[in-house]
Amino acid sequence: MKKNTYHLITIGCQMNKADSERVASFLEERAFRLLEDFTEANLVILTTCGVRQSAEDRVYGLVNQIRKANTEATVVITGCLAKRKDVWRRLKGQVDLFMPINELPNIFELLEKNVSRKEQGLVDSRIIEGEKYLSIEPKYQSPYTAYVPIGNGCDNFCAYCVVPYARGREVYRPLEEVIAEVQGLLAKGYKEIVLIAQNVNSYLSGQDKFPDLLKKVLALPGEFWVRFSSSHPKDLSDELIALLADQKMCPHLHLAVQSGDDEVLERMNRKYTASHYRGLIAKARAVRQDLAITTDVIVGFPGETEEQFENSAKLFQDLKFDLAYTAQYSPRPGTVSALMEDNVSREEKRRREKVLTEILKISGEEKNREYLEKEVLVLVDGTNKNGKYYGKTGSYKTVIFTAPENIRKDDLVGNFVSVKIIAVMDFGLEGQLVI
Ligand code: SF4
Repeated sequence: MKKNTYHLITIGCQMNKADSERVASFLEERAFRLLEDFTEANLVILTTCGVRQSAEDRVYGLVNQIRKANTEATVVITGCLAKRKDVWRRLKGQVDLFMPINELPNIFELLEKNVSRKEQGLVDSRIIEGEKYLSIEPKYQSPYTAYVPIGNGCDNFCAYCVVPYARGREVYRPLEEVIAEVQGLLAKGYKEIVLIAQNVNSYLSGQDKFPDLLKKVLALPGEFWVRFSSSHPKDLSDELIALLADQKMCPHLHLAVQSGDDEVLERMNRKYTASHYRGLIAKARAVRQDLAITTDVIVGFPGETEEQFENSAKLFQDLKFDLAYTAQYSPRPGTVSALMEDNVSREEKRRREKVLTEILKISGEEKNREYLEKEVLVLVDGTNKNGKYYGKTGSYKTVIFTAPENIRKDDLVGNFVSVKIIAVMDFGLEGQLVI
């Protein structure tokens, strides 16, 4: 085992990835070196996700593997599972510390107090000075796309969701601090800034709300794209929708609908109706015609009848999403819906997911066909195993494209290029570099 080395595993959403970037820089500032392999690291940190059972099961599997391969490593769990007592019990004897992410500045102190693995590191969770860990300058994973957390936590308590319990209540970073981070990124040549929080619409710093912050980011000089995620439909304001027209704003809105049925939405505690959601999409499309819309939806929420599911299917047909992330409902421990009877069979959930996927395939292709023969701006991510380049448009479409051999890869990756779209794939586009 190598002294002062760490290995980092991240599971789940952009927020978790941004948290891991802070863990990495925090450790490296204290002379820890990243190892690609956990078998030799003396500190292994897992940033975990508990939104789906499959993500949670991955953590159990990984901890077992780590323990078998490296009995001496100090294993720390942070992220969604850090506060779950059932997880503490399940991983008893295998994990040294369960650390809510906002405790990161105290990690060594906590480990010291808690050296015995047998005692399990069941430290009391203390919230230290708000979300101070967000002020740690992260070790960004990408040299051209940066995820900038503007806050942490959620107060919405959707019936199926663990986030308010796992991450705690909403806390936001001061506006000046966010702007300073973005300015620093732009000075380093970053091309894409993604402002993230569980619900960006709730952002508040003094009197400044999210549209105020966004306007300040958009006013910064330079050629760059801005995205934000996620927005809650109950409080997506007209002021924020209007800002989608700004040319630095990517023409992409991710707005989770979760269900197209009012009764289900009410039981989910989403606090909007399907017609309110439809109204928001109409307003957003009126502001920006090239806007791509993506969403999240759950099928088989407790008590969801066939008729109620059909309302979701109808909404999908009417709104023609570009892409959707469909989840078959599974109860998460500690949530309100976990107390409801999970009475839609697994088979039926699978069928409902398939119905939505079929609708989406048609609408996605229809949307993608609008790009045929057009030139689009692409931010290039790399090359695939066939030697073709890939990247994404501002509308979040994946584009695979070819470029003449005399063009150097380094001149393309991490830069904006023009690509002419010549074909449409299932969930993406194919093209040729325009020189
Ligand atoms: S808004 Fe709802 S689904 Fe989103 S993080 Fe908060 S509780 Fe979870």
